[in-house]
Amino acid sequence: MNSELRREYLAGLGLTSWTLRSAEAAVTAPQEPAPAPAPASAPARAPASASASAPAAATVVPRADTSPAREADADWTELRSRVVACVRCGLCATRTQTVFGVGNLDAEWLIVGEAPGADEDRQGEPFVGRAGQLLNAMLHAVGLAREQVYIANVLKCRPPGNRDPGASEAAECLPYLERQIALLKPKIMLAVGRIAAQNLLRTDKTLGSLRGQVHRFGALQVPLVVTYHPAYLLRTPGDKRKAWEDLKFAREVCSLV
Ligand code: URA
Repeated sequence: MNSELRREYLAGLGLTSWTLRSAEAAVTAPQEPAPAPAPASAPARAPASASASAPAAATVVPRADTSPAREADADWTELRSRVVACVRCGLCATRTQTVFGVGNLDAEWLIVGEAPGADEDRQGEPFVGRAGQLLNAMLHAVGLAREQVYIANVLKCRPPGNRDPGASEAAECLPYLERQIALLKPKIMLAVGRIAAQNLLRTDKTLGSLRGQVHRFGALQVPLVVTYHPAYLLRTPGDKRKAWEDLKFAREVCSLV
């Protein structure tokens, strides 16, 4: 991407001043909100009770088997079918549709968010709302079109009211993402937001303490970098500068793989 185009994208992000400011340490903008309890202790949502109009699946109790090997035989088509039909947790009763993931199956970058929101639940694609537009702009700023990357979430279904994913929901859903990663073999994973980072890294550390390092994910030990969630950046634009640093860091890590 030429520098003029990059300036345009950064301007779109409201980041024209980023290149001029060097006193990084002096940034005093607030951190992303304090961490929730460790994923392991987060309360699981009970399956919704069945009603006349609810699908029979609403009464299914989540299964205990959370081994990633469960999906080991699935190709992309089969995996998508399994996700579409999934009733492993109570979110199947409240979703409009599952949100499998979208993007280039040869992508080097895998972006992982938390869970679908209302827009994503309606459209069946991750990051299509305002946060998605900002994510696209962030990617463009490091020379990536949305179509070049792959985008998915820790959860394939929307938690009602956009509440945080429950621990058992994340555990039931993670094998799908793990299979996506095995099929995709990305060079770099970018976890956007505290919830995605904590679930992927199985930690309750703050997002601030997870930034700026190369973590490793799963059997393939995929390099994983953590940054702010675009929805948080919409509320806290002062931290966009730090997200820009994270993205440049991720790009550098990717170039070394
Ligand atoms: N936030 C997320 O974490 N994922 C989406 O797909 C949309 C909003």
